[in-house]
Amino acid sequence: MKLDPLGELRATRQCGELRATDAGQPVILLGWVQRRRDLGHLIFLDVRDRTGLAQVVANKEKNPEAHARADQCRPEFVVGVVGTLAKREKPNPALSSGDVEVVAEKIFLLNEARTPPFSLEADTTASEETRLRHRYLDLRRPQLLRNLRTRHRVALAIRRFLDREDFYEIETPFLTRSTPEGARDYLVPSRVHPGHFYALPQSPQLFKQLLMIAGFERYYQLVRCFRDEDLRADRQPEFTQLDLEMAFVAPDAVFRVVEGAMKFAFAAANISVMPPFPRLTYAEALARFGTDKPDTRFGLELAEVSAVFKAAREALKIEIPVHAFVVPGAAETSRKQLDGFAEFVKAQGGRALYYAKVGEKSVESPLEKTLSSRGLEWLQEATKAAAGDLILIVPSDPAQVAGAPHAPTTTVIGALRSHVAQELNLIPAGKWNFLWVTDFPLFEWSPAEKRWVSSHHPFTAPADEDLDKLESDPGRACSKAYDLVLNGWELGSGSIRIHRQDVQQRIFRVLGLSDEEAKERFGFFLEALTYGTPPHGGIALGLDRVVALLCGEKSLREVIAFPKTTQAQDLMADAPARVADAQLDELGLALKPPKKN
Ligand code: ASP
Repeated sequence: MKLDPLGELRATRQCGELRATDAGQPVILLGWVQRRRDLGHLIFLDVRDRTGLAQVVANKEKNPEAHARADQCRPEFVVGVVGTLAKREKPNPALSSGDVEVVAEKIFLLNEARTPPFSLEADTTASEETRLRHRYLDLRRPQLLRNLRTRHRVALAIRRFLDREDFYEIETPFLTRSTPEGARDYLVPSRVHPGHFYALPQSPQLFKQLLMIAGFERYYQLVRCFRDEDLRADRQPEFTQLDLEMAFVAPDAVFRVVEGAMKFAFAAANISVMPPFPRLTYAEALARFGTDKPDTRFGLELAEVSAVFKAAREALKIEIPVHAFVVPGAAETSRKQLDGFAEFVKAQGGRALYYAKVGEKSVESPLEKTLSSRGLEWLQEATKAAAGDLILIVPSDPAQVAGAPHAPTTTVIGALRSHVAQELNLIPAGKWNFLWVTDFPLFEWSPAEKRWVSSHHPFTAPADEDLDKLESDPGRACSKAYDLVLNGWELGSGSIRIHRQDVQQRIFRVLGLSDEEAKERFGFFLEALTYGTPPHGGIALGLDRVVALLCGEKSLREVIAFPKTTQAQDLMADAPARVADAQLDELGLALKPPKKN
């Protein structure tokens, strides 16, 4: 096929921006043919650029040359159209340019295209694998274009806001040492130093703290982080964080900046959110919602009903505490649905699910035999349930209670709370419930490793009043860590940091790191802490998650231009890939058969 050069041809208009007020004007469009309809002497082309579609019409009688060119066009051919804008007889309200069409005078064929392996229209039935293999085609779909445009606008709004707040955006290295955030590192072998490896940063945590030591006072970065985590449904091995750090601050100052950044980010997607965001302590969040990232768009708050069950404990083979929540007006919930909830509780590792249905005169429940009707009335009082309500009750598991010290006992019922809200459609649309969760424990007991691990990361400051508990009662030491939660999603974590070297060393010891190990891994940082470190704190928020929520997307892959699969693969570039023996030789590496898990 004979192709035309681009030459001097330049677009004078964008497809999606053509309006009836411009009728009669000359236009030049450059774009892709989305669709071609051949009515014999008239050929219609839908031409697409990044702003949308425009209808082009080529008339055989009036313009045989343009018509002949239109006849050669196929989907995804790249064209230039020179013509005149005319009002359409039958406007198409589905298109922003639907009131007009371009009457083609000349059509330039700039490139041809193979037939795409899937439809590039709004809805595609192609599998995600096919879409990811041809991501450059998938990205032509309006949904992904819109998502990435939103992402750009959100990032821009955040940058503008932080600039106004006197933050500097400073880049930190990718080739560095391990920065522990609880995942495995991606390692990069060094050629110049055989046998030595860089680690890609799990976060810029140490660097941003070093920038505070350096005196920059306010730092931020929209930064790629790398975590080699066990495969989980919606995680990306590389992801973007809004990472920030401030000197001489208490949590309030960090909250204020993040609230402002969120307000502007959401405004960029036409959603208004109103700071300040509510705050909840970790202990309160677990007591009321059974999770440290509560979705507060709906009620179903937990009540502790241990007293009601005290006497029946042995008969039921359960342990105290026992928690319950009330689903208003749900007494009619079917047996089948209740069985489903019970299965859910079991799948979460729970002991059992009990229920009680509150009627006008009495409470009905399989528990009646054990608790008696007096006990059921007591349950109703304790939960403040009204006639027509359903009470769901989840007891603790004796094994669980005996397990990790201070482990929360409401997580199973907390998960049930969200599950029930979803199943019974109790979550209102269009709500954006931000929430700060504060006062996290400093450590958690890891039954697998049989040692204390940091709940956040080892650089998180303990609460001032708990400094003396670090060694004597680490499980009860509270931290200055906080999370930002939105509609039940954790958007990010942060904390006030340790700025005293002696405290940092004590934390490493509680974590089971000998002074030698600490020196070997973090010596540079421990040294830096001794040169006048200001009190400081910060946070990192997952940008991918924010954008996914704003775009109403369930998967992070829909808001990342070139994402990886859940198996951490790039299907298009086919990465990770084997490398040539020569490359391994140069690095002084030899491959062993992989270890079986
Ligand atoms: N570095 C932490 C993270 O990536 C966030 C922070 O503490 O600022 O989760």
